Amino acid sequence: MEFAVESGLKTMGSGEGIRRNQALICAPLMADTVDQMVDLMHKAKSKGADIVEIRLDHLKIFNPRSDIEIMIKVCPLPTLFTYRPIWEGGQYAGDEKSRFKALQLAMELGADHIDIELKAAHEFNNFLHGNKPGKCKVIISSHNYDSTPPIEDLGNLVARIQAAGADIIKFATTALDITDVARVFQITVHSQVPIIAMVMGERGLMSRILCPKFGGYLTFGSLEAGQVSAPGQPTIEELVNLYNFRLLEPDTKVFGIIGNPVSHSKSPKLYNEAFKSVGFNGVYLHLLVDDVQKFFRTYSSMDFAGFRTYSSMDFAGFSVTIPHKEAALACCDEVDPVAKSIGAVNCVVRRPDGKLFGCNTDYVGAISSIEDGLLGSQNGSTGTGSPLAGKLFVVIGAGGAGKALAYGAKEKGARVLIANRTYDRARELADLVGGQALSLAELDNFRPEKGMILANTTSIGMHPKVNETPISKEALANYMLVLNAVYTPKITRLLREAAESGAQIVTGVDMFIGQAYEQYERFTGLPAPKEQFKKIMEN
Ligand code: NAP
Repeated sequence: MEFAVESGLKTMGSGEGIRRNQALICAPLMADTVDQMVDLMHKAKSKGADIVEIRLDHLKIFNPRSDIEIMIKVCPLPTLFTYRPIWEGGQYAGDEKSRFKALQLAMELGADHIDIELKAAHEFNNFLHGNKPGKCKVIISSHNYDSTPPIEDLGNLVARIQAAGADIIKFATTALDITDVARVFQITVHSQVPIIAMVMGERGLMSRILCPKFGGYLTFGSLEAGQVSAPGQPTIEELVNLYNFRLLEPDTKVFGIIGNPVSHSKSPKLYNEAFKSVGFNGVYLHLLVDDVQKFFRTYSSMDFAGFRTYSSMDFAGFSVTIPHKEAALACCDEVDPVAKSIGAVNCVVRRPDGKLFGCNTDYVGAISSIEDGLLGSQNGSTGTGSPLAGKLFVVIGAGGAGKALAYGAKEKGARVLIANRTYDRARELADLVGGQALSLAELDNFRPEKGMILANTTSIGMHPKVNETPISKEALANYMLVLNAVYTPKITRLLREAAESGAQIVTGVDMFIGQAYEQYERFTGLPAPKEQFKKIMEN
């Protein structure tokens, strides 16, 4: 076998890039037949797994001696044999003696690891009569499909697993909230024995990706999206290529996008590719957050006493999206004056003194994209002031993005009008920025002058409702530039009809990239790789 598990990152097959940690990626293999299992082993290797977990309980027909022998012989990667019973979330419904015999056989035949459940460990040890055959490492595991217990209970669980004779401790709990993961990191980092500690579910994703940062032995990565052995498992491809798993180290800074929902966000791809290309030691995650205050409280007070490498300082910066932009503002120790006026932050950075600083980059990206568009058009001002000065700027929507655009336009000297589905919210925002208000229904007939600017900041026209649009094509003839904050699809019906009516268009992608430049510079202190951002978003 070409890869020694013990030596971690030493000798991977061809095509492997740099590895900065020893954490392994384990591909769980679940197949009906041994032949299929063997195919999956090769697939796992080609995808970049370091080790395979052979789930014996998934085999429909199983002849322990011959099948295990073949699988060990032909497997191109180190092996972990698991024969999970139904009572621990697996498929095996038979008696314990046959199950123990198969696992014993795997040990004798040269398995690198076997997994036995804590609930059965005592009985299994008795069955082996204290003779642990071969070089095999025994993982003793515990799975909690309901919750993540308090830290004292987790500490007791780990002590029991260790006392049962584990070479490697494994426990998996369920995340009811993203803050559950903090307790599991604290246990992982203090473990004296190699440990695999996972928090299942989308809210626990961070536990799987940051395994190398906190010293976990391995993480699980599925071969294909959706073919998971436990909820929340990323694919090997995502671990390696999206989250740069091989490059993570104890002092890697953690960034991420806080939202709900958040899994659709392209921000991790954008930032992680940029971090990798400039060698910045950071990772950017999808963070599914329910209670933003609890999130910031937990990850601002993380204390890994005795392990000076880790602290809340490692949770260094966050993008904030729907629905947390307003709540996040209240969590900041200091807020930029414009964000305060807008009443929403979309970027939170931890300063060197540990304090949280909030700002709003939504308007920066949008306004500069509009200014660029106007300057590039024949009608744009060529003077030294903003080409927005004096223009009538119509904002559709009065939510976070609407507020940001209205303030940004006002700052540049535009005359602002807010059109919103809920008129009262339009009125409220208009009063704040000293502008006019309309209900969205009145917008079609609002045609006071030519050469206006229009910014849609509602989700109207967003995938999958791509045929919807907030304003008729006829009314668009009065606008010289139209921006749509919606970025899926890039060219919405609104933008298509605006272009057909002769207006300049600015896409939600342009706006997104603009705000991302600003956040990247705040997160890293480095200039944003603008061309790379554009290329990534175009792809
Ligand atoms: P938000 O705070 O929830 O505000 C949503 C606004 O849209 C409200 O004014 C709401 O009107 C209106 N709205 C929602 N559904 C509507 C419908 N079916 N018909 C008419 N009006 C509707 O959200 P947000 O943070 O401002 O984000 C809004 C959109 O902008 C989202 O699509 C988001 O993805 C996009 N965005 C893009 C970027 C970028 O970089 N491209 C940045 C930020 C946001 P009511 O007041 O009547 O409820």
